[in-house]
Amino acid sequence: MPADLVALGRMPDLEQLEARGIEDCIECGACDYVCPSAIPLTQRLIIAKGRVRQQQADQRQAAHARQRSEAREQRLHRNTEQQNDALARQVAEISGSKKIGQQAIDELKRRAASVKRSSPGQSHDD
Ligand code: SF4
Repeated sequence: MPADLVALGRMPDLEQLEARGIEDCIECGACDYVCPSAIPLTQRLIIAKGRVRQQQADQRQAAHARQRSEAREQRLHRNTEQQNDALARQVAEISGSKKIGQQAIDELKRRAASVKRSSPGQSHDD
């Protein structure tokens, strides 16, 4: 009933308006002719429909913003994981090269020790 819709249109909860089919109103203006109190129902229905559409637009915008925010979070998480992976690879490379360096140092020490042992004029001051 148009008068009910007009009354609901003043309430903050606009979902009832949608549930009651306010979008079905084609704004023909017949309400105004039959209203015994000469209330401009059509005008008020148009205003209520505008509020419903604004609310729907706000909900769509909020959903879009939420999607973007979630996508951003996922992107940041993915970037962090990629950076961590790259860091882990670099650490592995560095530790690998340290091993090589340590192996080289050990080899040099071994050779140095063998040279000292075989040297006839070996000094004792080290
Ligand atoms: S304006 Fe027309 S379509 Fe809308 S509620 Fe009134 S009579 Fe129905």
